[in-house]
Amino acid sequence: MTNTDFITLLREQMPEEEVQRLIEALQSAPQPTSIRLNPHKPYPAPEGREVGWCRWGRYLAERPSFTRDGHFQAGGYYVQEASSMFVGHLLEQALGGEKTEGLRLLDMCAAPGGKSTLYSSIVGERGLVVANEVIRARALTLADNIMRWGVGNTVVTSNDPSHFAGSLEGWFDVVAVDAPCSGEGMFRKSEEARENWSLDNVRLCATRQRRIMADAWASLREGGIFIYSTCTFNRAENEENMEWLCGEFDCERIEIICPEEWNIARTEAGVAECFHFYPHRTEGEGLFAAIVRKGGESTSRRKAPKKARKNPFGEVDKRVAKEIAGYLQDSTPLHLATIGESIYAYPAPLWEDIRTVAEQMSVLFSGVKVGEMFGKKFRPDHSLALSAHLNMEAFQRVELTEEDMLRYFRREELSCVSALGEGLNLLLFEGQPIGFTKRIGSRTNSLLPKELRILSQNF
Ligand code: SAM
Repeated sequence: MTNTDFITLLREQMPEEEVQRLIEALQSAPQPTSIRLNPHKPYPAPEGREVGWCRWGRYLAERPSFTRDGHFQAGGYYVQEASSMFVGHLLEQALGGEKTEGLRLLDMCAAPGGKSTLYSSIVGERGLVVANEVIRARALTLADNIMRWGVGNTVVTSNDPSHFAGSLEGWFDVVAVDAPCSGEGMFRKSEEARENWSLDNVRLCATRQRRIMADAWASLREGGIFIYSTCTFNRAENEENMEWLCGEFDCERIEIICPEEWNIARTEAGVAECFHFYPHRTEGEGLFAAIVRKGGESTSRRKAPKKARKNPFGEVDKRVAKEIAGYLQDSTPLHLATIGESIYAYPAPLWEDIRTVAEQMSVLFSGVKVGEMFGKKFRPDHSLALSAHLNMEAFQRVELTEEDMLRYFRREELSCVSALGEGLNLLLFEGQPIGFTKRIGSRTNSLLPKELRILSQNF
């Protein structure tokens, strides 16, 4: 942390005494561990203090091996550093208790999915989250995490931000940009972030961020909410970008209430309220977040997207639809559709919007992938086991020991084969569905996708 350019930038932002405390925190303060619970799954909250700005956030006293935990694999919680959860507070404050019915939210830079899963919890089954990640390999990880979260209200896309500006202009009610940045707030966690830092990189990041912000802004409707965040401290990538946005476009202020005891440093940029999390002041890593409303007639109807480019969906045969309905809870109306050979389920109120996104964008995952029919035989997808819409009663179920749960995720043979019924079994760990397997006589056929297998060295 001796980079003099970095320290010079900090000195422009805060008094010398604070600079020293921040550097000390980056060098030696312990990194807190935190998780965020999934309100759509009944995983019991572990012991731990609540994160002030997120009712689902918990600090843990130590860092367990999350990959070994069946509840993590079942999507009972997401491992997320505490400061990042603050964007959820901004969204909830901006919505001001407004119903999320029909809400369309775009998370433009979404992988690996920390903020998208938080937004998914907030908007619930009546609101749509489009989680976009331009880098394909990272988008695949994002899709896995969204699938594990299991709400069914999210579409994962892999597009350049300019595609949204071009095809879904003015279409979203909320747009969040968690921009790629120089990562100063991650210095404590990541050697790579420390090594890659330079003034040139800060400038490069700031330029790229403005490009992403402009595209994101175009996809937001008038009166919509814009949330910008980075995990860096410097003004160029934070306040100066927000000042630029407010100068370039019609922005309005959104008032945000934060209790003093959260110790967040507040600044302003144009009309934007800005928030800094510094590790020497709050229990978490570095974060910058800002929020504004897009000016204009707030009741204006969102513009209809351009003509459909493609239609990936097909209709589900009536007989098949009847069978599939039995595998899903009937508390939420769901719409069924096929993509290729696979059958998908979507919260019915979101169906039209999901179709619109799929017609325009490159979609990697959406809703709940229920499974496929092979002749008259149904083969469920792993996604169904992890979906909050699963009807557990429709399957024979077996509770696994911890040892067998770990074997399942390594794709090894289970030791409890004799406890399984012949054919399809839903596997549970401490009451939570973790996947499917098929018993054929004395052996099992795992339905865990190969790419989700956890290698032994991670255990
Ligand atoms: N929001 C994520 C979360 O909470 O888990 C973290 C997002 S990370 C800070 C920024 C993301 O932006 C990365 O996944 C990165 O691949 C993506 N990215 C990189 N270059 C981009 C670009 N030119 N346009 C849009 N996104 C980009």
